[in-house]
Amino acid sequence: MPIATCPELLRSPIAAFNVITLEHAEGIVSGADSVNLPVILQLSQNAIQFHQYPDAIAAAMVAVARNANVPVLLHLDHITDVSLAQRTKELGFSSLMYDGSTLDFAENVATTAQLAGWCAKNGVWLEAELGEVGGKDGAHAPGVRTDPKEAVQFVTETGVNSLAVAVGSSHAMVNKTAAIDLGLVARLREAVGVPLVLHGSSGVPDEIITQAVAAGIWKVNIGTALNIAFTGAVRNWLADNDGVDPRKYLRLARAEMAATVAHYLQVVAAGR
Ligand SMILES: [Zn+2]
Repeated sequence: MPIATCPELLRSPIAAFNVITLEHAEGIVSGADSVNLPVILQLSQNAIQFHQYPDAIAAAMVAVARNANVPVLLHLDHITDVSLAQRTKELGFSSLMYDGSTLDFAENVATTAQLAGWCAKNGVWLEAELGEVGGKDGAHAPGVRTDPKEAVQFVTETGVNSLAVAVGSSHAMVNKTAAIDLGLVARLREAVGVPLVLHGSSGVPDEIITQAVAAGIWKVNIGTALNIAFTGAVRNWLADNDGVDPRKYLRLARAEMAATVAHYLQVVAAGR
């Protein structure tokens, strides 16, 4: 199946999963294939920098996406380096999240707007986010909330295609205890004219993800839940076996990630 682009996927809410290894990419696509739902494979700047050889993981993601039986969108996540952002197309991706959240508002607007111009010319979808002064984790630190007025100003002045919002979730949570301000999601959906993105969704209870989607979230980002699945499978196998062939446990890790992806795609689809 040809690789999907953002405009094609706008009609229904969708989940996006972070790729670290080839097994993540294969597990995500096989999970999406198993429930016959479109999916987003996303690659963060951190994950790119983790790999020793440039572009290897991005190339692998392109190959996996081409072999999927469902629409797969390839997205770069949390890119702070503008020159890397401008390599989106060259890597075979069509969507990008620029993260200017550590910049002050005016600087974030200026940089994001400049990139939005490049993206429009090159057919690349641009997601961005507002910053939080002093917040180490940008807009996704617990307690941070996106102000609808500021969000409207940011979207108008930058021309971004979608907006990551702070409504209660935060990154890298290993327990599903985040409380989402569903009223704020609805107000943002009403005020902001572009699709909304929820980051840090691994920390959100399933039924709240479904409700957040129903309230107006379009893209649900999930990373940590896959790493819990991957590492749990590897840890269990190694605890019980003394074999050395990594295929034995990576196969299990990939299957656990596929099951996690299938689960979350259905949780998101339930909010349609
Ligand atoms: Zn994020």
